[in-house]
Amino acid sequence: MSAFSDLTLDVVKVRADFPILERKVHGKPLIYLDNAATSQTPRQVIDVFADYYERYNANIHRGLHTLSDEATAAYEAVRETVARFLNANKRHEIIFTRGTTEAINLVANTWGRANLKAGDEIILSMLEHHSNIVPWQLLAQQLGLIIKVIPVDEHGALDMAAYRELISERTRLVAVNHVSNAFGTINPIRDMAAIAHDHGALILVDGAQAAPHEPIDVQALGVDFYAFSGHKVYGPTGAGALYGRAELLEAMPPWQGGGEMIKTVGFDGGTSFADIPHRFEAGTPAIAEVIAMGKALDWVSNIGIGLIGSWEQRLLAHANDRLRTIDGLRILGTAPKKAGVISFVVDGAHSQDIGLLIDQLGVAIRTGHHCAQPLLKHFGVDATCRASFGAYNTPEEIDIFADALERVIGMVR
Ligand code: PMP
Repeated sequence: MSAFSDLTLDVVKVRADFPILERKVHGKPLIYLDNAATSQTPRQVIDVFADYYERYNANIHRGLHTLSDEATAAYEAVRETVARFLNANKRHEIIFTRGTTEAINLVANTWGRANLKAGDEIILSMLEHHSNIVPWQLLAQQLGLIIKVIPVDEHGALDMAAYRELISERTRLVAVNHVSNAFGTINPIRDMAAIAHDHGALILVDGAQAAPHEPIDVQALGVDFYAFSGHKVYGPTGAGALYGRAELLEAMPPWQGGGEMIKTVGFDGGTSFADIPHRFEAGTPAIAEVIAMGKALDWVSNIGIGLIGSWEQRLLAHANDRLRTIDGLRILGTAPKKAGVISFVVDGAHSQDIGLLIDQLGVAIRTGHHCAQPLLKHFGVDATCRASFGAYNTPEEIDIFADALERVIGMVR
Protein backbone atom coordinates (compact mmCIF):
# COMPACT_ATOMS: atom_id res chain seq x y z
CA MET A 1 0.00 0.00 0.00
CA SER A 2 3.08 2.20 -0.11
CA ALA A 3 2.03 4.43 -3.02
CA PHE A 4 -1.19 5.23 -1.19
CA SER A 5 0.02 5.70 2.33
CA ASP A 6 -0.78 9.40 2.43
CA LEU A 7 -4.48 8.60 2.33
CA THR A 8 -6.39 7.81 5.44
CA LEU A 9 -8.62 5.12 3.94
CA ASP A 10 -7.60 2.03 5.80
CA VAL A 11 -8.07 -0.51 3.04
CA VAL A 12 -7.03 -3.43 5.22
CA LYS A 13 -9.79 -2.52 7.65
CA VAL A 14 -12.25 -1.97 4.80
CA ARG A 15 -11.44 -5.35 3.28
CA ALA A 16 -11.95 -7.11 6.61
CA ASP A 17 -15.64 -6.21 6.38
CA PHE A 18 -16.11 -8.24 3.17
CA PRO A 19 -16.23 -12.02 3.71
CA ILE A 20 -16.38 -12.68 -0.03
CA LEU A 21 -12.90 -11.24 -0.50
CA GLU A 22 -11.54 -14.27 1.34
CA ARG A 23 -12.74 -16.71 -1.29
CA LYS A 24 -10.71 -18.17 -4.06
CA VAL A 25 -11.73 -18.42 -7.71
CA HIS A 26 -10.08 -21.20 -9.71
CA GLY A 27 -7.65 -21.58 -6.84
CA LYS A 28 -6.59 -17.92 -6.95
CA PRO A 29 -7.52 -15.12 -4.55
CA LEU A 30 -10.55 -13.27 -5.88
CA ILE A 31 -9.78 -9.88 -7.38
CA TYR A 32 -13.13 -8.28 -7.89
CA LEU A 33 -13.11 -5.50 -10.48
CA ASP A 34 -16.76 -5.59 -11.55
CA ASN A 35 -18.01 -3.04 -9.06
CA ALA A 36 -19.89 -1.01 -11.65
CA ALA A 37 -22.17 -4.00 -12.22
CA THR A 38 -22.63 -4.76 -8.54
CA SER A 39 -20.48 -4.06 -5.52
CA GLN A 40 -19.71 -6.59 -2.79
CA THR A 41 -21.50 -6.48 0.52
CA PRO A 42 -19.97 -5.89 3.95
CA ARG A 43 -20.73 -8.22 6.86
CA GLN A 44 -22.70 -5.48 8.62
CA VAL A 45 -25.16 -5.41 5.70
CA ILE A 46 -25.34 -9.19 5.34
CA ASP A 47 -26.12 -9.43 9.07
CA VAL A 48 -29.20 -7.25 8.64
CA PHE A 49 -30.96 -10.13 6.91
CA ALA A 50 -30.44 -12.65 9.70
CA ASP A 51 -31.36 -10.04 12.29
CA TYR A 52 -34.51 -9.03 10.45
CA TYR A 53 -35.76 -12.57 9.78
CA GLU A 54 -34.80 -13.83 13.23
CA ARG A 55 -36.25 -10.95 15.23
CA TYR A 56 -38.76 -8.67 13.52
CA ASN A 57 -39.93 -10.04 10.17
CA ALA A 58 -43.39 -8.56 9.63
CA ASN A 59 -45.30 -6.60 7.05
CA ILE A 60 -44.99 -2.86 7.47
CA HIS A 61 -47.47 -0.01 7.91
CA ARG A 62 -50.28 -2.48 8.61
CA GLY A 63 -50.13 -4.28 11.90
CA LEU A 64 -50.32 -2.72 15.27
CA HIS A 65 -48.25 -5.50 16.75
CA THR A 66 -44.69 -5.08 17.99
CA LEU A 67 -42.94 -6.84 15.12
CA SER A 68 -44.77 -4.78 12.53
CA ASP A 69 -44.01 -1.58 14.43
CA GLU A 70 -40.32 -2.44 14.59
CA ALA A 71 -40.13 -3.36 10.90
CA THR A 72 -41.99 -0.18 9.95
CA ALA A 73 -39.71 1.97 12.07
CA ALA A 74 -36.57 0.38 10.61
CA TYR A 75 -37.87 0.71 7.04
CA GLU A 76 -38.97 4.32 7.47
CA ALA A 77 -35.71 5.24 9.16
CA VAL A 78 -33.95 4.39 5.90
CA ARG A 79 -35.93 7.14 4.18
CA GLU A 80 -34.18 9.55 6.48
CA THR A 81 -30.83 7.88 5.75
CA VAL A 82 -31.35 8.14 1.98
CA ALA A 83 -32.55 11.74 2.28
CA ARG A 84 -29.33 12.54 4.14
CA PHE A 85 -27.22 10.60 1.65
CA LEU A 86 -28.65 12.65 -1.24
CA ASN A 87 -29.13 15.81 0.80
CA ALA A 88 -32.83 15.86 -0.05
CA ASN A 89 -34.81 18.53 1.70
CA LYS A 90 -37.57 16.26 2.98
CA ARG A 91 -37.73 12.55 3.73
CA HIS A 92 -41.00 12.12 1.81
CA GLU A 93 -39.10 13.09 -1.35
CA ILE A 94 -37.57 9.60 -1.23
CA ILE A 95 -39.46 6.75 -2.90
CA PHE A 96 -38.16 3.23 -2.46
CA THR A 97 -37.89 1.23 -5.67
CA ARG A 98 -36.22 -2.00 -6.76
CA GLY A 99 -33.41 0.07 -8.20
CA THR A 100 -32.51 2.66 -10.80
CA THR A 101 -34.39 0.94 -13.60
CA GLU A 102 -37.64 0.89 -11.70
CA ALA A 103 -37.15 4.49 -10.56
CA ILE A 104 -36.78 5.72 -14.15
CA ASN A 105 -39.75 3.67 -15.30
CA LEU A 106 -41.75 5.18 -12.44
CA VAL A 107 -41.03 8.73 -13.61
CA ALA A 108 -41.71 7.84 -17.26
CA ASN A 109 -45.04 6.25 -16.41
CA THR A 110 -46.29 8.82 -13.91
CA TRP A 111 -44.81 12.26 -14.56
CA GLY A 112 -44.27 11.36 -18.22
CA ARG A 113 -47.77 10.15 -18.96
CA ALA A 114 -49.39 12.97 -17.04
CA ASN A 115 -47.32 15.78 -18.55
CA LEU A 116 -46.10 14.86 -22.03
CA LYS A 117 -47.94 14.97 -25.34
CA ALA A 118 -47.21 14.36 -29.02
CA GLY A 119 -44.42 16.57 -30.33
CA ASP A 120 -42.82 17.17 -26.93
CA GLU A 121 -39.09 16.58 -26.83
CA ILE A 122 -36.92 14.61 -24.43
CA ILE A 123 -33.14 14.92 -24.43
CA LEU A 124 -31.01 11.88 -23.59
CA SER A 125 -27.29 11.40 -24.10
CA MET A 126 -25.11 9.01 -26.04
CA LEU A 127 -23.67 7.87 -22.71
CA GLU A 128 -26.91 6.39 -21.38
CA HIS A 129 -27.43 2.93 -19.99
CA HIS A 130 -30.33 1.14 -21.69
CA SER A 131 -32.42 1.69 -18.58
CA ASN A 132 -32.37 5.43 -19.26
CA ILE A 133 -33.14 4.95 -22.96
CA VAL A 134 -35.74 2.24 -23.35
CA PRO A 135 -38.38 3.58 -20.89
CA TRP A 136 -38.33 6.86 -22.83
CA GLN A 137 -38.49 5.07 -26.18
CA LEU A 138 -41.52 3.11 -25.02
CA LEU A 139 -43.19 6.30 -23.87
CA ALA A 140 -42.20 8.13 -27.05
CA GLN A 141 -43.80 5.42 -29.18
CA GLN A 142 -47.01 5.57 -27.21
CA LEU A 143 -47.30 9.36 -26.91
CA GLY A 144 -45.55 10.53 -30.08
CA LEU A 145 -42.62 12.18 -28.31
CA ILE A 146 -39.39 13.16 -30.01
CA ILE A 147 -36.09 11.93 -28.50
CA LYS A 148 -32.92 13.91 -29.10
CA VAL A 149 -29.46 12.66 -28.13
CA ILE A 150 -26.50 14.70 -26.85
CA PRO A 151 -23.40 13.47 -28.70
CA VAL A 152 -20.02 12.74 -27.12
CA ASP A 153 -16.54 13.83 -28.16
CA GLU A 154 -13.69 11.42 -28.91
CA HIS A 155 -12.91 11.13 -25.19
CA GLY A 156 -16.46 10.12 -24.31
CA ALA A 157 -17.33 13.46 -22.73
CA LEU A 158 -20.67 15.08 -23.48
CA ASP A 159 -20.64 17.78 -26.14
CA MET A 160 -22.09 20.60 -24.10
CA ALA A 161 -22.27 22.97 -27.09
CA ALA A 162 -24.44 20.41 -28.86
CA TYR A 163 -26.61 20.13 -25.74
CA ARG A 164 -27.18 23.89 -25.79
CA GLU A 165 -28.22 23.63 -29.42
CA LEU A 166 -30.52 20.66 -28.94
CA ILE A 167 -32.45 22.16 -26.06
CA SER A 168 -35.38 24.47 -26.79
CA GLU A 169 -38.75 25.47 -25.43
CA ARG A 170 -40.07 22.18 -26.87
CA THR A 171 -37.82 20.21 -24.50
CA ARG A 172 -39.79 18.93 -21.52
CA LEU A 173 -37.24 16.64 -19.92
CA VAL A 174 -33.50 16.04 -19.93
CA ALA A 175 -32.63 12.52 -18.73
CA VAL A 176 -28.92 11.83 -18.29
CA ASN A 177 -26.63 9.79 -16.16
CA HIS A 178 -24.36 11.42 -13.60
CA VAL A 179 -21.56 8.95 -14.31
CA SER A 180 -21.37 6.68 -17.33
CA ASN A 181 -21.20 2.99 -16.47
CA ALA A 182 -19.42 2.10 -19.70
CA PHE A 183 -16.68 4.78 -19.69
CA GLY A 184 -16.81 6.37 -16.23
CA THR A 185 -17.33 9.88 -17.61
CA ILE A 186 -18.61 12.26 -14.92
CA ASN A 187 -21.15 14.64 -16.40
CA PRO A 188 -21.55 18.31 -15.41
CA ILE A 189 -24.97 17.81 -13.89
CA ARG A 190 -25.24 21.16 -12.13
CA ASP A 191 -24.66 23.04 -15.42
CA MET A 192 -26.95 20.69 -17.30
CA ALA A 193 -29.70 21.21 -14.75
CA ALA A 194 -29.37 25.00 -14.95
CA ILE A 195 -29.60 24.88 -18.75
CA ALA A 196 -32.62 22.56 -18.60
CA HIS A 197 -34.41 24.85 -16.17
CA ASP A 198 -33.61 27.96 -18.25
CA HIS A 199 -35.66 26.32 -20.98
CA GLY A 200 -38.49 25.26 -18.72
CA ALA A 201 -37.50 21.58 -18.84
CA LEU A 202 -37.02 19.17 -15.94
CA ILE A 203 -33.95 17.04 -15.40
CA LEU A 204 -33.84 13.43 -14.28
CA VAL A 205 -30.46 12.03 -13.29
CA ASP A 206 -29.54 8.37 -13.36
CA GLY A 207 -27.16 8.28 -10.43
CA ALA A 208 -26.52 4.52 -10.44
CA GLN A 209 -22.79 4.99 -11.02
CA ALA A 210 -22.34 8.23 -9.09
CA ALA A 211 -23.81 7.23 -5.74
CA PRO A 212 -20.97 4.76 -4.97
CA HIS A 213 -18.20 7.24 -5.78
CA GLU A 214 -18.97 10.80 -4.90
CA PRO A 215 -21.03 12.89 -2.51
CA ILE A 216 -24.47 13.61 -3.96
CA ASP A 217 -26.33 16.80 -3.15
CA VAL A 218 -29.56 16.93 -5.10
CA GLN A 219 -30.28 20.46 -3.90
CA ALA A 220 -26.88 21.84 -4.91
CA LEU A 221 -27.08 20.01 -8.23
CA GLY A 222 -30.55 21.46 -8.73
CA VAL A 223 -32.04 18.26 -10.13
CA ASP A 224 -35.71 17.29 -10.22
CA PHE A 225 -35.34 13.50 -10.07
CA TYR A 226 -32.37 11.39 -9.01
CA ALA A 227 -32.22 7.58 -9.04
CA PHE A 228 -29.76 5.05 -7.66
CA SER A 229 -29.49 1.34 -6.85
CA GLY A 230 -28.54 -0.10 -3.45
CA HIS A 231 -26.57 -3.01 -4.90
CA LYS A 232 -23.97 -0.70 -6.41
CA VAL A 233 -23.41 1.08 -3.07
CA TYR A 234 -22.43 -1.99 -1.01
CA GLY A 235 -26.09 -2.83 -0.40
CA PRO A 236 -28.26 -5.76 -1.47
CA THR A 237 -30.03 -6.27 -4.78
CA GLY A 238 -33.75 -5.48 -4.89
CA ALA A 239 -33.65 -2.04 -3.27
CA GLY A 240 -32.96 1.44 -4.59
CA ALA A 241 -34.46 4.86 -4.44
CA LEU A 242 -35.90 7.70 -6.42
CA TYR A 243 -35.57 11.26 -5.21
CA GLY A 244 -38.17 13.65 -6.59
CA ARG A 245 -38.83 17.26 -5.68
CA ALA A 246 -41.86 17.27 -3.41
CA GLU A 247 -43.99 19.59 -5.59
CA LEU A 248 -43.45 17.29 -8.58
CA LEU A 249 -44.15 14.06 -6.69
CA GLU A 250 -47.24 15.54 -5.08
CA ALA A 251 -48.70 16.37 -8.50
CA MET A 252 -47.87 12.99 -10.03
CA PRO A 253 -50.53 10.29 -10.43
CA PRO A 254 -49.83 6.80 -9.09
CA TRP A 255 -48.28 4.12 -11.27
CA GLN A 256 -48.75 0.67 -9.77
CA GLY A 257 -52.00 0.21 -7.90
CA GLY A 258 -52.45 -1.99 -4.86
CA GLY A 259 -52.24 -2.07 -1.13
CA GLU A 260 -50.45 0.71 0.77
CA MET A 261 -50.81 3.32 -1.98
CA ILE A 262 -54.45 4.23 -1.26
CA LYS A 263 -56.39 6.31 1.22
CA THR A 264 -59.74 4.66 0.57
CA VAL A 265 -61.03 2.15 -1.96
CA GLY A 266 -64.61 1.90 -3.15
CA PHE A 267 -66.46 0.40 -6.11
CA ASP A 268 -68.45 3.61 -6.41
CA GLY A 269 -65.54 5.65 -7.70
CA GLY A 270 -64.47 6.38 -4.17
CA THR A 271 -60.86 5.24 -4.51
CA SER A 272 -58.37 7.87 -3.43
CA PHE A 273 -54.64 7.73 -3.14
CA ALA A 274 -52.15 8.04 -0.33
CA ASP A 275 -49.85 11.02 0.02
CA ILE A 276 -46.26 10.79 -1.13
CA PRO A 277 -44.13 8.75 -0.73
CA HIS A 278 -46.58 5.87 -0.14
CA ARG A 279 -48.59 6.67 -3.27
CA PHE A 280 -45.67 5.23 -5.25
CA GLU A 281 -44.98 2.18 -3.10
CA ALA A 282 -47.79 -0.23 -3.91
CA GLY A 283 -47.75 -3.66 -2.29
CA THR A 284 -45.32 -5.19 0.16
CA PRO A 285 -41.93 -3.68 -0.53
CA ALA A 286 -38.50 -5.32 -0.18
CA ILE A 287 -38.47 -4.62 3.55
CA ALA A 288 -35.27 -6.41 4.58
CA GLU A 289 -33.49 -5.17 1.47
CA VAL A 290 -34.39 -1.55 2.17
CA ILE A 291 -33.25 -1.86 5.79
CA ALA A 292 -30.01 -3.46 4.57
CA MET A 293 -29.55 -0.67 2.01
CA GLY A 294 -29.77 1.80 4.88
CA LYS A 295 -27.05 -0.12 6.66
CA ALA A 296 -24.89 0.01 3.52
CA LEU A 297 -25.29 3.78 3.28
CA ASP A 298 -24.34 4.05 6.95
CA TRP A 299 -21.28 1.92 6.22
CA VAL A 300 -20.32 4.25 3.36
CA SER A 301 -20.94 7.36 5.46
CA ASN A 302 -18.79 5.99 8.29
CA ILE A 303 -15.84 5.73 5.95
CA GLY A 304 -16.76 8.87 4.05
CA ILE A 305 -17.88 8.85 0.42
CA GLY A 306 -15.31 11.53 -0.37
CA LEU A 307 -12.53 9.31 0.93
CA ILE A 308 -13.81 6.32 -1.04
CA GLY A 309 -13.97 8.45 -4.19
CA SER A 310 -10.43 9.76 -3.78
CA TRP A 311 -9.10 6.27 -3.06
CA GLU A 312 -10.71 5.05 -6.28
CA GLN A 313 -9.19 7.99 -8.16
CA ARG A 314 -5.76 6.82 -7.05
CA LEU A 315 -6.58 3.27 -8.14
CA LEU A 316 -7.78 4.63 -11.48
CA ALA A 317 -4.57 6.60 -12.02
CA HIS A 318 -2.49 3.55 -11.14
CA ALA A 319 -4.51 1.31 -13.47
CA ASN A 320 -4.22 3.87 -16.28
CA ASP A 321 -0.45 3.94 -15.84
CA ARG A 322 -0.23 0.15 -15.95
CA LEU A 323 -2.67 -0.46 -18.79
CA ARG A 324 -1.20 2.25 -21.02
CA THR A 325 2.03 0.29 -21.25
CA ILE A 326 0.29 -2.81 -22.62
CA ASP A 327 0.92 -3.19 -26.31
CA GLY A 328 -2.21 -2.91 -28.48
CA LEU A 329 -4.48 -1.98 -25.57
CA ARG A 330 -6.76 1.00 -26.20
CA ILE A 331 -8.71 2.70 -23.43
CA LEU A 332 -12.14 3.95 -24.48
CA GLY A 333 -13.40 6.87 -22.46
CA THR A 334 -10.65 9.28 -21.51
CA ALA A 335 -12.71 12.25 -20.36
CA PRO A 336 -10.88 14.54 -17.93
CA LYS A 337 -13.41 13.85 -15.18
CA LYS A 338 -13.87 10.13 -14.68
CA ALA A 339 -14.93 7.73 -11.95
CA GLY A 340 -13.00 4.53 -11.28
CA VAL A 341 -13.98 2.72 -14.47
CA ILE A 342 -11.69 1.67 -17.32
CA SER A 343 -13.09 0.31 -20.57
CA PHE A 344 -10.62 -1.08 -23.04
CA VAL A 345 -10.20 -3.14 -26.15
CA VAL A 346 -7.11 -5.02 -27.29
CA ASP A 347 -6.00 -5.32 -30.92
CA GLY A 348 -6.36 -8.85 -32.18
CA ALA A 349 -8.12 -10.16 -29.06
CA HIS A 350 -11.82 -10.62 -28.37
CA SER A 351 -13.05 -9.00 -25.16
CA GLN A 352 -15.00 -12.16 -24.32
CA ASP A 353 -11.86 -14.32 -24.51
CA ILE A 354 -9.96 -11.92 -22.29
CA GLY A 355 -12.77 -11.93 -19.73
CA LEU A 356 -13.00 -15.73 -19.64
CA LEU A 357 -9.27 -16.31 -19.40
CA ILE A 358 -8.61 -13.66 -16.81
CA ASP A 359 -11.35 -15.19 -14.68
CA GLN A 360 -9.23 -18.35 -14.65
CA LEU A 361 -6.62 -16.24 -12.87
CA GLY A 362 -9.13 -15.10 -10.25
CA VAL A 363 -9.80 -11.66 -11.73
CA ALA A 364 -13.43 -10.63 -12.27
CA ILE A 365 -13.91 -7.96 -14.94
CA ARG A 366 -16.91 -7.37 -17.17
CA THR A 367 -16.97 -7.87 -20.90
CA GLY A 368 -19.74 -6.98 -23.32
CA HIS A 369 -21.78 -3.95 -24.28
CA HIS A 370 -22.44 -2.86 -20.68
CA CYS A 371 -26.08 -2.05 -21.61
CA ALA A 372 -24.76 0.93 -23.55
CA GLN A 373 -25.00 -0.32 -27.13
CA PRO A 374 -25.45 3.11 -28.77
CA LEU A 375 -22.26 4.38 -27.12
CA LEU A 376 -20.19 1.35 -28.08
CA LYS A 377 -21.53 1.45 -31.62
CA HIS A 378 -20.55 5.11 -31.82
CA PHE A 379 -16.99 4.09 -30.94
CA GLY A 380 -17.09 1.31 -33.52
CA VAL A 381 -17.00 -1.65 -31.13
CA ASP A 382 -19.52 -4.30 -30.02
CA ALA A 383 -17.88 -5.00 -26.70
CA THR A 384 -15.16 -3.83 -24.35
CA CYS A 385 -13.50 -5.19 -21.25
CA ARG A 386 -14.29 -3.07 -18.21
CA ALA A 387 -12.52 -2.94 -14.88
CA SER A 388 -14.28 -0.89 -12.21
CA PHE A 389 -13.02 -0.17 -8.72
CA GLY A 390 -14.48 -0.10 -5.24
CA ALA A 391 -13.41 0.90 -1.74
CA TYR A 392 -11.79 -2.48 -1.05
CA ASN A 393 -9.58 -2.68 -4.14
CA THR A 394 -5.86 -2.17 -3.73
CA PRO A 395 -2.95 -1.09 -5.90
CA GLU A 396 -1.53 -4.60 -5.49
CA GLU A 397 -4.71 -6.00 -7.02
CA ILE A 398 -4.36 -3.61 -9.94
CA ASP A 399 -0.81 -4.90 -10.46
CA ILE A 400 -1.97 -8.50 -10.42
CA PHE A 401 -4.77 -7.59 -12.82
CA ALA A 402 -2.37 -5.84 -15.22
CA ASP A 403 0.09 -8.75 -15.11
CA ALA A 404 -2.74 -11.23 -15.68
CA LEU A 405 -3.99 -9.15 -18.57
CA GLU A 406 -0.59 -9.22 -20.26
CA ARG A 407 -0.43 -12.98 -19.81
CA VAL A 408 -3.92 -13.50 -21.20
CA ILE A 409 -3.33 -11.21 -24.18
CA GLY A 410 -0.21 -13.21 -24.99
CA MET A 411 -2.35 -16.37 -24.99
CA VAL A 412 -5.15 -15.16 -27.25
CA ARG A 413 -3.16 -13.26 -29.83
N1 PMP B 1 -27.90 3.20 -15.02
C1 PMP B 1 -26.59 2.95 -14.97
C2 PMP B 1 -25.63 4.04 -15.34
C3 PMP B 1 -26.15 1.70 -14.57
O1 PMP B 1 -24.84 1.43 -14.52
C4 PMP B 1 -27.09 0.70 -14.22
C5 PMP B 1 -26.66 -0.70 -13.81
N2 PMP B 1 -25.65 -1.23 -14.59
C6 PMP B 1 -28.44 1.02 -14.29
C7 PMP B 1 -28.80 2.28 -14.67
C8 PMP B 1 -29.49 0.04 -13.93
O2 PMP B 1 -29.44 -0.25 -12.58
P1 PMP B 1 -30.32 -1.43 -11.98
O3 PMP B 1 -30.05 -2.62 -12.84
O4 PMP B 1 -29.78 -1.58 -10.59
O5 PMP B 1 -31.73 -0.98 -12.02
